Amino acid sequence: MTIDEFYGKRQQMVDTQIVKRGIKDKRVIEAMRKVPRHLFIDNALWPQAYEDHPLPIGEKQTISQPYIVALMTEALELEENDKVLEIGTGSGYQTAILAELAEQVYSIERLPNIAKNARKILDKLNYKNVMISIRDGTEGWSEFAPFDAIIVTAAAPHIPRPLFEQLKIKGRLVIPIGGEFSQDLMVYTKTDKEATDVENLGGCRFVKLIGAHGWKE
Ligand code: SAH
Repeated sequence: MTIDEFYGKRQQMVDTQIVKRGIKDKRVIEAMRKVPRHLFIDNALWPQAYEDHPLPIGEKQTISQPYIVALMTEALELEENDKVLEIGTGSGYQTAILAELAEQVYSIERLPNIAKNARKILDKLNYKNVMISIRDGTEGWSEFAPFDAIIVTAAAPHIPRPLFEQLKIKGRLVIPIGGEFSQDLMVYTKTDKEATDVENLGGCRFVKLIGAHGWKE
């Protein structure tokens, strides 16, 4: 683990915002202790990087609150050999956490500049198991399907059908579902070709998932 200038703040973030609030998965906790969250945002915001809220990353998008990243990642129940699809690369922070826990991460972002920034920092941190594509993530990434797990980090009006189809049986889909201004964080476990088990982790607020199977622009 790198002992950078924010090491202490990062450990404090994990202790007070992640562990104390009930995140139990040791691998998720370790990943959050390790990944230097501040490097994924503009350095003017570094003093706030480990605080308990989302932050702007440009183009009206945000990096998710640390607790939400931990909660969503834990819900994916990732194993070392898993292939995971992420929709909404954003800052790339969640992507890095996934890369610590799975074998291969496929991440899709619709905004080219946002994707390029994420690629730059992920390369700098030497993540070799991340592929990023600039396209509409609501269509999934059929070339590499099926996936063991899928995470959507933007708010959807309903499950985008291609994502359900590209999920393995027993695979998990974590996605905020609801209206434009508030959603529920849903966890779907695919039980067969047409069915899922479902769990609601509670209220949340994400930016809109914009695409063919999401919101219109
Ligand atoms: N996990 C990211 C969250 C970024 S915000 C982080 O913590 O930094 C959500 C991102 O989803 C935005 O960057 C937005 O551009 C992207 N997005 C919205 N609709 C999308 C779509 N259809 N396909 C891919 N990315 C999309």
